[in-house]
Amino acid sequence: MSVDWREIEEKWVKRWEQQKTFEADPDPSRKKYFVTVAYPYPNSPQHIGHGRTYTLADAHARYMRMKGYNVLFTMGFHYTGTPILGMSRRVAAGDQDLIDTFHNVYKLTDDVISTFVEPIKIASYFHSEIKQGMKEMGYSMDWRREFTTIDRMYSKFIVWQFNTLKKKGLIVQGSHPVGWCPRDQNPVSQHDTMGDVEPDFTEYVLVKFRRGNVVIPSATLRPETIFGVTNMWVNPDAEYVEVSVDGEKWLVSKEAARKLEFLNRDVKIEKTIKGSEMVGWEITNPLNNAPIVVYPASFVEADSGTGVVMSVPAHAPHDYQALADLKNNKALQQKFGIAVSVEPIVIIESEGYSSVPAAQAIEKALPGPKEDKLEKATSDLYSHEFYKGKMLAKAGKYAGRPVAEIKNEVKEEMSRAGMTSVMYELNNPVRCRCGAECVVKLLSNQWFLNYGDKGWKALAHECIQKMDVVPQDIRQEFDYVIDWLRERACARKSGLGTKLPWDQEWIIESLSDSVIYMAYYTIAKFVNAGAIPDIDSIGDSFFDYVLLGQGDAEKVARECKIQKQTVEQVRNEFSYFYPVDSRHSGRDLVPNHLSFFIFNHVAIFGREMWPRQVVVNGSVLMEGKKMSKSLGNIIPLRAAISEHGADTIRLAILVSAEILQDADFSFDTVRGIRSKLFGMFDMAERVKDVPTVAPEEVEDKWLASRLARASSVTAESMDRLRVRESIHHILYLLEQDLQWYEKRVSAKGRQDSPVVLSALAGYLKTQVRMLAPFAPFTAEELWERLGNKHTIAQAGWPESSSVDMGAEESEFLLQSLLADIQSIVKVTKMESKKIVIYTRAVWKEPAYRMILSNVLQGKTNFGENMKQLIANPETAKVKTDPNLVKKMQDDILSAPVEARERRLKLGQFDEAAAISDGASLIAKEFAGAEVIVNAEDDPARYDPKGKAKFARPFKPAVYLE
Ligand SMILES: [Zn+2]
Repeated sequence: MSVDWREIEEKWVKRWEQQKTFEADPDPSRKKYFVTVAYPYPNSPQHIGHGRTYTLADAHARYMRMKGYNVLFTMGFHYTGTPILGMSRRVAAGDQDLIDTFHNVYKLTDDVISTFVEPIKIASYFHSEIKQGMKEMGYSMDWRREFTTIDRMYSKFIVWQFNTLKKKGLIVQGSHPVGWCPRDQNPVSQHDTMGDVEPDFTEYVLVKFRRGNVVIPSATLRPETIFGVTNMWVNPDAEYVEVSVDGEKWLVSKEAARKLEFLNRDVKIEKTIKGSEMVGWEITNPLNNAPIVVYPASFVEADSGTGVVMSVPAHAPHDYQALADLKNNKALQQKFGIAVSVEPIVIIESEGYSSVPAAQAIEKALPGPKEDKLEKATSDLYSHEFYKGKMLAKAGKYAGRPVAEIKNEVKEEMSRAGMTSVMYELNNPVRCRCGAECVVKLLSNQWFLNYGDKGWKALAHECIQKMDVVPQDIRQEFDYVIDWLRERACARKSGLGTKLPWDQEWIIESLSDSVIYMAYYTIAKFVNAGAIPDIDSIGDSFFDYVLLGQGDAEKVARECKIQKQTVEQVRNEFSYFYPVDSRHSGRDLVPNHLSFFIFNHVAIFGREMWPRQVVVNGSVLMEGKKMSKSLGNIIPLRAAISEHGADTIRLAILVSAEILQDADFSFDTVRGIRSKLFGMFDMAERVKDVPTVAPEEVEDKWLASRLARASSVTAESMDRLRVRESIHHILYLLEQDLQWYEKRVSAKGRQDSPVVLSALAGYLKTQVRMLAPFAPFTAEELWERLGNKHTIAQAGWPESSSVDMGAEESEFLLQSLLADIQSIVKVTKMESKKIVIYTRAVWKEPAYRMILSNVLQGKTNFGENMKQLIANPETAKVKTDPNLVKKMQDDILSAPVEARERRLKLGQFDEAAAISDGASLIAKEFAGAEVIVNAEDDPARYDPKGKAKFARPFKPAVYLE
C-alpha cells in the first residue's frame, strides 16, 4: 500500500488546530506540567540541527500528556539584542558569504533578501518560516501564547523585572572589564560574536620598570619573579610609542597604547621610536633598583601585553632559551653593539629541581617542536613552583616562604607602592558579528547584574541542588558556572529591546531580557486575546500582583485599566502553570542562558516557583560530520520534512544518541525508520476491523504480557528522558516479540484465527500509543485507522498490569530449547527425523529451587550449597550426582536476572506442557522432524542412548536421531 505522508501531516496539523488539542488552560482537577524550550532568534531558517532540542522537548511534552498531565508547551520569538541587527547589517554591507547561504542553502530569492536590510523584515520573515516549520514537525505547542520580545507588553514585563532586581540591590553601576566591539561601541557576549565565542580574558599585572622618568611597563602573571629579572626583551622591528598615560610618560608598543585607551586611560601619543633604538638601554627594576639591560628578541609580539617583556631566565623557559640563543649569536650582538653576559638568577627552590629550573624543565618536556616544548615546560614549571616552590635569599623579606603564600603579598606591596598597574587581555581572538575585532574594555558607570554577589550565588546553588538536572553529569557544570560568573553588563547602547527604566540611554541586552520569560506565557494568552486593552497603562503593580501575589487586585485593575476579573484570571493562570517543570536547551547555553535563568528565578521568585528540571542535549552531526557551510551539509528543516516526512526526521534525530551525545543524522537511519513505519501501516490494514477477543493460547497471553512489560520499561526510560532507549524498545525489541509470536501461531496454523488477529490489533494499538510522543503523525493516523474516535493523547500511555509470568517462562523455555537444539544440530551436522526432549525428574526440582534461592541471596559457594542440599532429606539425593548441582548452579548464573526471579516466584512450573505446546514450532524449524516429549523419570520413555538423565530443571535434555 502507499502512504501519502504529506496528506497525513497536513490533515493532523489542521485537526489538532481545530480540536485545540494542545491548548492548555488551568484545570484544578488535573496535575499540570509546563515544558519550555529556549526560544529562537528569528535571523535565519531552521536546519536539521535546530530540530533536536525542540523535538526532544516535544516528545517529552507529548509523553507527559499521555501520562495524564495537563501539559503546557509554548513558543516565543527573540527579536531583541544584536543577532537580528547584526544579520541585517551584514546584508546591508553586501556580505557575499551570507547572501550565498541564503541563496544556495535556503533558496531565498533576491526580492526577499533585499528586504533584509531592515532588521524587522528579517525577524518577521524568519519568524513565520520557523513557526511554519515547527507546525510541520508536529510540535504540540499552545500557539495562543506566542509573543515576540519587542511586543509592548513584553517590554512592560522586562521593565518590571529590572525594577525588581534593582530594588533587591542586584543591579549595580560600576567599572568592570567586558568584551567590547570598538565599531558598535557595545559590550559583546557569546550571542554577539561570530562562531558564538564567549569573550574570555585574563588580568595581568603591569610592572613599571623605569628609565629616568619614563615608565617601561611589562605585563606578567608572575609578579613574584621580579627578583629574578635579568634583562628586558623588545622586538627590534616593532614600533613603540612614548605616550602620556594619565600624566605619566610611558613607553609601550603602538598596539598596547590602543588597548590602554579601552581601559579608560587618558592616552596621548608623543613620539614614535623603533624597538631597535631601545636595545642596550639600561633601565631600573622598581622593586630593588637593580639595573637591567634591554635585549632584542624576535619572539616578542607587539600586540601581546605591552610589547615589552621582563626576562626571568631561571624560571621562564622561553626567556632561558632566548638568552641562550642570543649568547650564541655573536653576529646579532655585534649588530646591536651589545655583549651579553647576564646569568640566570635563581630565586625559587622546589623539590625535583636544582641548578636552573627553566633549563631542567625544558629537558624534562617531551621531545617535539621547539615551541610546543617551551609551552609545556612553561606550564609545568609554573604550577610546580606555585604549589611546591619556596623563595630563596634573593627574594629579600620573602625568603624561605612558599610561592603560593607570597604571590599576592608581592603583588599588593608593589601595587601600594605604585610600582604596578593592571591590564586585561582576551585569551583568544574574538570577532563581533559586525566583523570587527573585539577588545577588552573597562566600562565605567555601566549597569551590571551582580552575579558575583555571594548571597545570590548561594541561592542559585540551592536551586541546582533541589532540581532535576538531565543528564545528571551536567549538575557540576552548573555549580562551576555559578561560582565563576561575576558582574555582567546587562545593557547596550544599540540593538533592539527594552530601555533600562531608570537610564533611558541604555537598552537591556538579549541574555538579560530572556531569563524569566517563561512566566510571560501565562500573560501572553490574555494579551493576544485582547483582554488587556490599554498596555500603556500597565505598570509594575500588575506584575507584582500577577507574578508575586503582592498588592490588591482591585487597585491593580483601576491603575492598569483592566477588569478586576482579568487581573485575577492572569494571577490564577500563573499560579497554576508555574513553576517551569522542564526547561530544555542545547548544552552550549549552560554557561550563559541556563545559568542566568536559574540566577534570575531565585532572585525574583519564592522557592515554590523555582524551576524543577533542566534538560540539556548535545548537538547534531550530519553523517558523522559537523554541519557547516563549507561541507555543504546543512539541510533546511522544511526541505527535509517535505522530502522524508516529519516523523522520520523526528525519529532519526532522536534514535541516534542518548541526550548528551552528539546525535548523528544519517540517511540510512531515515530509510530504515521509514520502512518500519510503512510496516505498521500494512499491519493496520490487516487488523483494522477485527473484533476484540480474549487470548486463548499461551503465546497470546505471552504477547500481551510482553506488551505490558514494554510499556512499563519504556515509561521508566522516558521518565529519565532516555529517548534513544525508549525508541529502541518500541521499534526494535517489540518487533522481535512480534516475529516470535508470528512464528508460533503459524506453526500452529492459527495465523488467521480471530484470537490472533485480535492479539495483533492489541499489539499495534499498544505500539502506536507508545510511539505517539516520537512519531505523532503516524501514531494519530494509525490510531484513527484502527477505529478510534478520540486523539491518541486522550488514549493515554498503555497500561502495564497484565504481566503473565507463566506465559513468559513458557516462551522463554521454548526459545532457549530451540537454541540448544540448533547448536546440537550445528555440531553433529545431522538431519534429524526424530527429536526427543526429556524434562527433569521430579526429585531435581526442590534442589534447583534451593540453589536458586541461595544464588538470589548472593550465596554462590558450591561447597556450602552442596552441604545444605545433603543436610535436607528432601534434596539429599543430589549426593548421587554432584556434577548435577554444579551444572544447575551454572545454569542459574547464566540465566538473565529477570528469569531467575521469575522462576523463584513461579513455584511449580509444568515444563512438559510448555514444550508440548511448542512442539509444532520445533517440528517446523527442523524440517518436519517428529518431536517427542518424555519425562526423565517416565519408565515408558524412549531413551536408546541414556540421555534422559542429563535433564535439569529449565534445561531439558535432547536426543536426536
Ligand atoms: Zn560589532
